[in-house]
Parts: sequence; structure tokens; C-alpha cells
Amino acid sequence: MLAIAAAYLGYKVAVLGPGGRESPAGHVAYWAHAWGSKGEVSHGLLEEFCQLVSVVLIEWENVPLDLVRRIEAKGVPVRPGPKALSIAQDRLFEKQLAQTLNIPVPAFGLIDEHSHHQHIAATPCILKTRRDGYDGKGQVRIPAGDSIEEAWRSLGRVPCILEEVVNFTCEISMIIARSPSASDDKMSFYGPFENKHVNGILRQTSYPMSNPFVSYRSQYIRQAAYQAMRQLATALDVHGLLAVEFFVARDGTILFNEMAPRPHNSGHLTIECCHTSQFEQYVRAACNLPLGSSDFHSRGDMINLIGEEAHKAAWYMENETNTLHLYGKEEVKKGRKMGHVVQTCPWK
Ligand code: AMP
Repeated sequence: MLAIAAAYLGYKVAVLGPGGRESPAGHVAYWAHAWGSKGEVSHGLLEEFCQLVSVVLIEWENVPLDLVRRIEAKGVPVRPGPKALSIAQDRLFEKQLAQTLNIPVPAFGLIDEHSHHQHIAATPCILKTRRDGYDGKGQVRIPAGDSIEEAWRSLGRVPCILEEVVNFTCEISMIIARSPSASDDKMSFYGPFENKHVNGILRQTSYPMSNPFVSYRSQYIRQAAYQAMRQLATALDVHGLLAVEFFVARDGTILFNEMAPRPHNSGHLTIECCHTSQFEQYVRAACNLPLGSSDFHSRGDMINLIGEEAHKAAWYMENETNTLHLYGKEEVKKGRKMGHVVQTCPWK
């Protein structure tokens, strides 16, 4: 989707990543090459890539940081940049940053070889690996009375954070775009989107928020989310895109959950619903072009097609106003995001 948005603006896209030509982006790119199984890129390949490109955008926050630094050392900017990446790659760092900015976070603690923690959970909590977790992977729920040690062992005893289970009303996300020359007023915002997760995987996103609790308080929630987004993007020196997920607590306050300095799954419906999609906006921001309007010309719902659900794609097409996206991933796997469907509806 990012490569397609860049192509619309007349750019040729070079893709460097795990799948190379076989990846979804590789299918539509002008040049594509796979890196090694641990993200290794030879000097020769990096040289070729850096000769081809003027700017590098990322669509996965776990891009190896040393690769980002090697690219920047060759004079090619990587946007949103190493600072945003290094913080977003670690759940502890991102929560600490939110705390520094006075953005509320769920109560959490560190679990590693050196920490002294209770062995039994006093209240329900979630153990999450500090790094490399996504779509519910790298985390386990621990009911009150269960062993924290055992849960930690099941995650391979890697450094983790232990979070309280938040009894939230709903989950929301926001996306901010910021270009290198943008003053505060020129930042562009999408959302808040209302998100429903099942087993830690995003299932559905809606805009505007329809949950009666949040729509009643939407002005307050929107303002708090805008303020947090502006603070985070500025602190991280984001030149590109930043997406943040929040929990809306029972008293209406928003709690920072996690962030990603890249296009976000909850923003996929911006292709059909906004004047400028999150993907085009990211390209514009990274290339230091004027930002487009992030206004919604339609309301919309997005449903992810996960695993075997990809086989139901034709069924969704029976409704002729649905828009279907299939990512062209080689293999259907349980819990893997294979595509999504967007249903739009004009504002009344
Ligand atoms: P994460 O990868 O941290 O976004 O977690 C995936 C999903 O698990 C979230 O979107 C929530 O639905 C749920 N979850 C994660 N952390 C918590 C928490 N502290 N309290 C309640 N639910 C959570």
C-alpha cells in the first residue's frame, strides 16, 4: 500500500526487506531485494540500494537499527528516523517516554534476570516481551494467583514488562504525520479510531468512534489524544508517521499502550475514507512535500482478514460497495493478517 501510494506520486520504489521480490511490496516495486534471515545486508547490496534511493521509509518498526545507521552514514535519510525507531522497538523505553511526557500509562514493572518480583500475580496482569512482540505474540495473560515465573519461562526468560490488565471501555488509536520542515501547526492527524482486538490481534477499526461511552466524551478524548500525539512526535523528532494505541479507561482518561513509527493497520481505511491516505501522507512527509488533508469524506469500518478468512474474500465482494485488499502473502497462517475489507458510508 505504501509502494502503491509512492507510485501514484511518480516515485519508483526500491524494496529491501525479508521477502525481497516475493514480499507484498516487492510485487509492485521497481527494484526489490531480500536481506538475510537476521536482517544482514552485504556492503555491495547496501551500496546498490543507497545509490538508487533518495530517502528510506519503513513499514516495520523492527528494522535493524545498525542497518538504519549504515544507510544514514551513506547520506540517505531514514524517516521517521533512528530515535523514533530505537524507542518504539522496546516496550520499556516507549512507556518510559510516555511517563516523562506525563501521558498516563498502565501500571507496569520490569521482569528480567535482575528484578525482584512477586512470584505469584496478586491481580490479573499481562507479561510482554520488551522487544519483537506483535499481533498478540510475545505476551501472556496471567490470572490472579498464577505464577509469574512460569509465564516468564514460557516467553523464554527474555527481558519483559509486566502490566496490570486495564479494565478499559475501548481501545483507540491515532496517527500523526510530520514533515521535516513542519511547524507544530503543520502536523496532520488521523483518528481517533475505535479498535476491537481479538486474541491480541486487531479485528476491526471504525471511524468515527461509535462506542456510546467514548462518543459521549469524544471531544475530551480527542483533545487528550491530540495533545499526546503532538508531544510524542515532537519528542521523537518524527519526520514521517507515528501511530499510537491507547486504552480508554472507565473514567474517560486515555492510557498509552504502544506506538509504531510507520503506517498502522487501524489507518488502512484512510485509503477509502480520507482525502489523503496515511500511506500518501507518509510519502509526502518523508519527501518533505506539503501534507494533504487528513479529513474524512466518508465514515468507514475496516475488518481484517486473518488466516483462513482470506478464503472468504470473494464473499465480501458480493457486497459491491465493499473494498477488498489482499496482500498477496505467499502462505496462509493462523493469526496472520492476509488482507482487509473496508465498508464506507458518506456523512449524512
Ligand atoms: P499490544 O501488543 O500491547 O497492543 O497488545 C495487544 C492487545 O492485547 C491490545 O490491543 C489489548 O486488546 C490487549 N492488551 C494489551 N495490554 C493490555 C493491558 N494492559 N490491559 C488489557 N488489555 C491489554
